[in-house]
Amino acid sequence: MSSMRGVFFLEPGKLEMREVPIPEPGAGEVVIKIETATTCGTDLKGYKRGHRLFRPPMPFGHEYAGVVTAVGEGVTQFREGDAVCGANSAPCGVCFYCRRGQPSLCVTIEDSFNFGSYADYFKIPPHIVAQNLHHKPENVSFNHAGFVEPLACAVNGVINADIQFGDTVAIVGPGAQGLMQMQVARSVGAARILMIGRAHGRLEVARALGADAVFSSKEGDPVAFVKEMTGGRGADVVIESAGSAETWTQALLMVRKGGTVVQYSGLPGGTQVSFDATHLHYGGVTMKGIFHLTPRTVEMAVQALASGAVNVAPMLDGSIPLEQVEDGLLRMARSEVIKLAVEPSLS
Ligand SMILES: [Zn+2]
Ligand SMILES: [Zn+2]
Repeated sequence: MSSMRGVFFLEPGKLEMREVPIPEPGAGEVVIKIETATTCGTDLKGYKRGHRLFRPPMPFGHEYAGVVTAVGEGVTQFREGDAVCGANSAPCGVCFYCRRGQPSLCVTIEDSFNFGSYADYFKIPPHIVAQNLHHKPENVSFNHAGFVEPLACAVNGVINADIQFGDTVAIVGPGAQGLMQMQVARSVGAARILMIGRAHGRLEVARALGADAVFSSKEGDPVAFVKEMTGGRGADVVIESAGSAETWTQALLMVRKGGTVVQYSGLPGGTQVSFDATHLHYGGVTMKGIFHLTPRTVEMAVQALASGAVNVAPMLDGSIPLEQVEDGLLRMARSEVIKLAVEPSLS
């Protein structure tokens, strides 16, 4: 049996490249040769401080696109040589939540996470092959196809935000998620996008991708900015993708009476957030927590890349070989790059 390289997460601040056997597919499984594994903010968070779902030592990386090298018994929809992309989890389809059409809350979703895409080869388990593995559209590069998983999450946030045709949508946080969400929001009917961030570089990317107005919270009160841009009312819809208790609080204050706020970014366990109960109650505001993706939003993400509805190119700041995963995450931490494509073939 021949071996391959794989990056392992050992403990916060510590990764290791290991030589391990190339996986072989069991029934219903698919093995792919990784062309691209994109770096992700979740990997960075986990690398820095550990993660609820990370059980080290563990294979690292979860975004991927590649070529099928082997299929297990019973796999009919994929064969050797197929270019594929997809998500790294899948719901069970039969639990309490799945039966109610809420697969992102599936009781087994956390156990379904498949890690190890920072490697030469990656095995996809049966439940993911069946639900969340897709053929890569021909007009989408491997590097861009690596965005399917994060884009499926971004889509899930936006389609649950009740955006109406002609709405003004404020998005807080021009990271990869916010930059994808603004494009999805536009394509589902938002007339105006207001992007709130901090660093000017990111806000310029947002502007280049079509934000109508951008605002740095280093320069003033973002709530006042949104009010000013909306005749004092507030935005029809606000999506919080910045990831702090402070921005959660602000997001609620930015929405108009009767509007919808999606609290999209995850905060560390136990975080308490204060909010204006008067605005929520008397303002008839809807506040939703949205997490993760569904098989339907994975499908939508593949379509969005194929149709060009979402342009991910400005979020990809270059390619690195497997040996540089750690360095790449540190560059993300310093906000030098948004995302990097880890391409094993580069070394
Ligand atoms: Zn990710
Ligand atoms: Zn389930």
